[in-house]
Amino acid sequence: MTIATLRKKFIEGSYTPDDAVAHTLEVIANKDPEIHAFLDVYEDAKDEAVKATARYKAEGGATPALLGIPFAIKNNILIKGRKATAASKILKNYVATYDATVITRLREAGAIFVGSTNLDEFAMGSSTENSAFGPTKNPHDTSRVPGGSSGGSAAAVAMGAVPAALGTDTGGSVRQPASFCGLVGFKPTYGAVSRYGLMAMGSSFDQAGPLTTTVEDAERIHNVIAGLDPMDSTTIDSNTYPQVPIKQTYTIGIPRAFLKEGIDQEVMNVFEAHIETLKNKGYKIVDIDLPLFEKGLAAYYISIPAEVSSNLARYDGMRYGLRVDGDTLLDVYEKTRAEGFGEEVKRRILLGTYVLSSGYYDAYYAKAEAVRELMREELAHVFTSVDLVLTPSAPTVAFTFGAHADPVSIYKQDIFTVPVNLTGVPAISIPGGVVQKGDKSLPVGVQYIAPHGGDTRLFDIGKKIYDALLPEEQ
Ligand code: GLN
Repeated sequence: MTIATLRKKFIEGSYTPDDAVAHTLEVIANKDPEIHAFLDVYEDAKDEAVKATARYKAEGGATPALLGIPFAIKNNILIKGRKATAASKILKNYVATYDATVITRLREAGAIFVGSTNLDEFAMGSSTENSAFGPTKNPHDTSRVPGGSSGGSAAAVAMGAVPAALGTDTGGSVRQPASFCGLVGFKPTYGAVSRYGLMAMGSSFDQAGPLTTTVEDAERIHNVIAGLDPMDSTTIDSNTYPQVPIKQTYTIGIPRAFLKEGIDQEVMNVFEAHIETLKNKGYKIVDIDLPLFEKGLAAYYISIPAEVSSNLARYDGMRYGLRVDGDTLLDVYEKTRAEGFGEEVKRRILLGTYVLSSGYYDAYYAKAEAVRELMREELAHVFTSVDLVLTPSAPTVAFTFGAHADPVSIYKQDIFTVPVNLTGVPAISIPGGVVQKGDKSLPVGVQYIAPHGGDTRLFDIGKKIYDALLPEEQ
């Protein structure tokens, strides 16, 4: 059931938070031994549910917007008193000492956290195969990955355990798993949502966003977690921002030249069919040029390792997390990091340290940041003639485990998503259709990109062309 339906039933009294949480725990008990979406399950969520049920009895519709709704939270987001591992050995037993702002806000709105979800270590990856605690399987086909890095959050929703989960998106980690698991995944405008209490990967890229089954639910969650936060100086006040209005209809740009290479034909077929639907509904479709988008991956895989190498310097065996003893201070650092970090994390730290080092900084890091600025200008220019940009969310459907053993081949998964984080604009992935493989239907997502601050416009188009087609829930 969606959040909207649960809320309605909770207020009516025909279904209660007790029922919802019991259902969640039952689904987890039945399905998670195989799927492995969860790293931890909070059995005490039942106690929260008892309180929420009583509150609905007493206050009905006057209760907060998300009261009693079960939520799963990606395990790189801090919940006070709960383990926060980032799916890394280095934080295996680490317990968070404070709530992230997004958690505080969800809590105030009445959400019930039922567990933490699996991810690629420190959110680096596109398949959850980089988790130190084993991968998550895609509920649509367990021989395939759920996407990543928020693969656990996506699988938790797709297997029907929770109506919603929170993920983080640095280069596509909410949108790509949404695409692979047949869900809605939203990446807000940079600064719309506080990063306080998110484990930093790329601080100039990271945003937290919802994974849900409808656009309306994603919007509900976003409205709860978004807004200025004194604990994150990069947060923006949407009221003081140039307004991106909602319109009756939209002009939608397709960057045709960008969609030529490396995309599976079956994904393209779903994408073209989606465009036809838009045309039939009267939307104006135009071709646009975004030549610099093709440089997105190259820029991303320089800037991101740079920020990763800096952000992960804190895991040194001194402050918290794993500590491996050694003869000297340097020895402790080296042994702790060698044992605590997985291969992909180490690769990025090494690469990032290299591109930031004297002599290479100007050649690599400064150049990547310059490309980023030019991409922002290019995109802003495109948005003077179109309202939205449309691309596939990912170049393939969910792939099988081990299919992308070489790092560059998996980085290519991010081709359509990273330009969004590089430029700071918002984007949403919505289910566009399915590809049939044997007896399995594999979902394909389409991605809408809006101008900076255009989060509401994305919810608007999403509701018009996706939610509107869904059957009424009973
Ligand atoms: N797949 C991308 C990466 O590995 C995106 C990760 C993310 O958004 N956290 O960097």
